[in-house]
Amino acid sequence: MPSLQDYRAALSELWELLRTILERLPMLMLMTFLFFGAIVALSVIGVVGFFLERRDWNRGQCRKCGCEWRYFDTDRQGGRGYRDDHGHYLWISCPLDKRHAVARLEVR
Ligand SMILES: [Zn+2]
Repeated sequence: MPSLQDYRAALSELWELLRTILERLPMLMLMTFLFFGAIVALSVIGVVGFFLERRDWNRGQCRKCGCEWRYFDTDRQGGRGYRDDHGHYLWISCPLDKRHAVARLEVR
């Protein structure tokens, strides 16, 4: 039969474990917060970037003069460069110009 001493030992071990968890809890919470915060921040940046690009792409027309965007280059990250007849240019990385890309391939 376990003695009172054994109960005390078990209880103090349990208490130690609880204290260790409690001591590390702020760090765990901080890391969780940072992790999800980073995911949310990246999502927001992605969504804002998409809408900004969509606004500038303007269904294939320059927002300043209404000329049609003409493809001229692709950068190393896969962004496509477009320009028009009036010296305006635009770089986009979202697949907003897919139809144009397909049309380009068909020409070749
Ligand atoms: Zn223009």
